[in-house]
Amino acid sequence: MTLTFLGTADSKGVPRFWCACLVCQEARMGGTNRRRRTAMLLRGEGQTVLLDAGGDLHTQLAGLPEPLVPDAVLISHAHNDHILGLGDLLDFERYEGGKLPIYAPPSVIPQLAGRFGYAFRKGSPVSPLPPEGLQIAGFRLRLFEVPHGANGQSHAYRLDRPSFRAALVTDAIDIPDRVAQEWLTDLALLVLGTSFADESASEQAGRSVYDIREALALPWARAARRVVLTHLSHAVDVRQVELPEGWSFAHDGLSLDLK
Ligand SMILES: [Zn+2]
Ligand SMILES: [Zn+2]
Repeated sequence: MTLTFLGTADSKGVPRFWCACLVCQEARMGGTNRRRRTAMLLRGEGQTVLLDAGGDLHTQLAGLPEPLVPDAVLISHAHNDHILGLGDLLDFERYEGGKLPIYAPPSVIPQLAGRFGYAFRKGSPVSPLPPEGLQIAGFRLRLFEVPHGANGQSHAYRLDRPSFRAALVTDAIDIPDRVAQEWLTDLALLVLGTSFADESASEQAGRSVYDIREALALPWARAARRVVLTHLSHAVDVRQVELPEGWSFAHDGLSLDLK
């Protein structure tokens, strides 16, 4: 069972197309900081689930060595960097007559309908994810609500199977203790979004994702057996930041064994 990162960037991607900073220049030359927007593949027991579908999805799927039609697609929240690739998936349904089970939390579906109105005209192609989640790819897969700062609410993924628990929290900040207690304890793996290294100098009001400095201080992150940081903007040069033991940066194409 594996989790593969197809994209590990924040909402702007790295390089930002307009930016000439050193990290964006290194990324432009094909360096280690080149990152696409969020999408992940969960594989197990012969099934593949796509978790989020950012604006780089076509390139990400077309770049796989084999054709892929996921067995299910889950969407965490309706931000462009997590859903713009849905257009390609909905086209697959329409033009190939394919069946693609797409799920999102009930509160997210009206926002998707607003964005992809043409695809919702004959009924919703997106089903509400039941609270008990899906049993797929060897896991019980659920979404739980997390605060997304100035951006309102998002959702994070929880993966369970006997003796293994993981949480994928790409877009969150200020998670209350009661949520952490319910969803983020005893984790074998925590994937955590940290868009910047240190945003303490910037306006608190505009914040929406943890920075690395905050992540390192979170008790539930420190308690996880393994922490992988993702959703990284051009302000994180992965060559420059030292992380403690058990912590690492994700990169596009990284595959983790889930055990
Ligand atoms: Zn995001
Ligand atoms: Zn977001």
